[in-house]
Amino acid sequence: MMRVLLLIVLGWLVYMLIKRAFFSTHATNSTRQQAKPEAEQKFVQCVNCGMHVPESESIKKDELVICNNPDCNKTP
Ligand SMILES: [Zn+2]
Repeated sequence: MMRVLLLIVLGWLVYMLIKRAFFSTHATNSTRQQAKPEAEQKFVQCVNCGMHVPESESIKKDELVICNNPDCNKTP
């Protein structure tokens, strides 16, 4: 009996995780659409990966510009 309950709880957890993942990606997409058109945004170049990112999505550390990529945010 306990095993069945555990399976139900596990299944529910997986379902909630999938639902949340789906919802969060959807939410990010809609906020991106509501944001200013890209042409109006100032683009800056990341010092780590060289990618051009909107200034609002970048992080400034001292005089260096870093994009919001987790790999670039790592502090050595
Ligand atoms: Zn970067």
